[in-house]
Amino acid sequence: METDCIFCRIVGGGTDTEFIYQDEEVVVFRDIHPHAPVHLLIVPRRHVRSVNDLTEADAPLVARMILAAREAARLQGVDASGYKLLFNVEWGAGQRVFHLHLHLLAGKRWAEGG
Ligand code: 5GP
Ligand code: ZN
Repeated sequence: METDCIFCRIVGGGTDTEFIYQDEEVVVFRDIHPHAPVHLLIVPRRHVRSVNDLTEADAPLVARMILAAREAARLQGVDASGYKLLFNVEWGAGQRVFHLHLHLLAGKRWAEGG
């Protein structure tokens, strides 16, 4: 746990953030500044800075994140209508919280191919 990391604080229960889903490895909660009607963050409990810092040994964790996203989509009722999964990797791509997270966006109509 990194004490100056907001997502470590959330994972550790140090805020009143509600978890939509949680298991031994990941938690899922709503983004505080949503970019879509449903905007969730899938966050590993363990602090990893970004996708760049993942190792071969983290392959099960990445799979767990995607499966947690699928379950959260089901729980939010957007699995059939559809959703986007997105990693922002490092500053130039828009990453601002440097604790690995997967965005789940749903509930709006995106342009064809957008
Ligand atoms: P990034 O830009 O790093 O890929 O995404 C970080 C996301 O975390 C942003 O969409 C931002 O709104 C969200 N976020 C930042 N701080 C908090 C917080 O304290 N609580 C919640 N729920 N979301 C946060
Ligand atoms: Zn962290």
